[in-house]
Amino acid sequence: MRVLVTGGAGYIGSHIVRLLEKTGENVIVYDNLVTGHQAAVKNSTFVNGDIFDSELLAATIKKYDITSVIHFAAYSLVGVSMVKPQEYYHNNVVGTLNLLDVMLANGVKQLVFSSTAAVYGEPENSPITEDMPQNPTNVYGRTKLIMENAMADYSRSYGLKYIALRYFNACGADDAGDIGEDHSPETHLIPLVLKACMGKTPGLKIFGDDYPTHDGTCVRDYIHVNDLAQAHLLALKALASGHESAVYNLGNGNGFSVKEIIEAAEAVTGLTAPKEMALRRAGDPAALVASSVKIRQDLGWQPEYTDINKLIATAWRWHQDNPNGFGDKSC
Ligand code: UDP
Repeated sequence: MRVLVTGGAGYIGSHIVRLLEKTGENVIVYDNLVTGHQAAVKNSTFVNGDIFDSELLAATIKKYDITSVIHFAAYSLVGVSMVKPQEYYHNNVVGTLNLLDVMLANGVKQLVFSSTAAVYGEPENSPITEDMPQNPTNVYGRTKLIMENAMADYSRSYGLKYIALRYFNACGADDAGDIGEDHSPETHLIPLVLKACMGKTPGLKIFGDDYPTHDGTCVRDYIHVNDLAQAHLLALKALASGHESAVYNLGNGNGFSVKEIIEAAEAVTGLTAPKEMALRRAGDPAALVASSVKIRQDLGWQPEYTDINKLIATAWRWHQDNPNGFGDKSC
């Protein structure tokens, strides 16, 4: 396979790139470095490009004789999506449609797509299975659902073969400790708790304690980024061997509340995070926990990092070894 990874300099993308390198695939990273980091691209060929740049995309696909694409290049913050919807529709919908146009025009018909648990909104039952209703409560989730629907239409009409992976809460870092989560500004819970433990932020705000959950704080399913990476590799291989288009959840199947994550992070670090209660964050569903039975059965996916403390420990190592993240200004 010769794989183009859009957004391959980002957090999840860089972990998939590493796995593809280890397994001997040809990988081309395509990233505009708006949120990604050049320093996260260690060995692969790197193209500094934007998904709206049709000419560069087409030239890259031709030059490297690309056979499949993994598409990460998108905005992914629930809170920001609620106040800047235009940016989210533009980048995640218009940008992805542009990528699809260029792929199809150049005969590339295999795509692994980053989707999200946010497509479900407030689920009727837990754990969530792929066939449950999709009613996103935030703009981010709506942009991803729009693209899932578009890909289903393109699949029927143009022979596109895609696998959409609905990530629950990606976290952790590669055991090597040299790539990890570095967003600016950081908005995700686990890195923020760890930064609060390190004294790098004034403290953590807990967004709401009046949700209908066991302790009132939101419950999420935290999944290690390398387990996500394995799923992408399986999806790529499945498409290469003729698998039909499909949609899969990716989570551990265990829910942890915000308070439980803070406790686990404090146990792992041996430090205390200053914290305070705050209002609910717009767009947050109360609980999102995955059933990943479908991908386990269809593709043989098996997550390795199922212990929340071990999972947080990998993130902690990254934060300790790289207190300033990648230390560049490209974020
Ligand atoms: N959260 C919080 N304080 C923060 C950041 C996040 O209480 O500073 C909560 C957030 O409301 C959500 C959970 O932690 O319920 C996970 O949020 P995150 O942004 O990490 O991921 P999301 O679920 O939005 O993809």
